[in-house]
Amino acid sequence: MGSTPIGHPLIDKGKKQVKSMVANVLQRPTLVLNRNWQPVNVATVARALVLLWNESARVVDPTDYQTFDWNDWTKLRPEDGDAFVQAIRFQVRVPEIVTLTDYDRMPTASVAFSRRNIFKRDKYVCQYCGNQPGTEELTIDHVVPRAQGGESRWDNCVLACVTCNRDKADRTPKQAGMRIRREPVRPKWKPIYTSHDVRIESWSKFISEAYWEARLEA
Ligand SMILES: [Zn+2]
Repeated sequence: MGSTPIGHPLIDKGKKQVKSMVANVLQRPTLVLNRNWQPVNVATVARALVLLWNESARVVDPTDYQTFDWNDWTKLRPEDGDAFVQAIRFQVRVPEIVTLTDYDRMPTASVAFSRRNIFKRDKYVCQYCGNQPGTEELTIDHVVPRAQGGESRWDNCVLACVTCNRDKADRTPKQAGMRIRREPVRPKWKPIYTSHDVRIESWSKFISEAYWEARLEA
């Protein structure tokens, strides 16, 4: 056996139609959860099977949350209607969800750090006075000013109205005697599925309603 479960030709090369079906199945999306069962990524079925083979992931059965390693999983025979990969000697059910076994990785897909997204995160509200003066009157304020080494990062940039920005000037909020209404952080609403149109029903158990709500604003 090669280093991956799909290292061998899976099917008779003459059967082109079957081959493209297998290719399609292998390109289907699998939801990847971290050890805490938070969604971190969407991988192809091919990648998920490699992770499973490497013991880097276990398959999650969305009906009862049971998990399977490669040996358990490949012993399962696909039932009617289950997607599967036809290997040389056996069929492997297509995992819809896997959970990483040795990895505390947090969701990696990150929101683009952009003016537009800062406005969106701060909901067009000045983070000092709480006013909503309109886009024209809002500026992006460096909490720790650039003059003092503050960086352009999610956790150092907030919306400020022109007045607050001018009042604060090149000072930290503390130095200026001003208070930030909400500590700036990187938004959590980045869709990890942007490049995947497919959404699988079983995933919904692992993705919060809040997430889908957030996605709709995008
Ligand atoms: Zn203000």
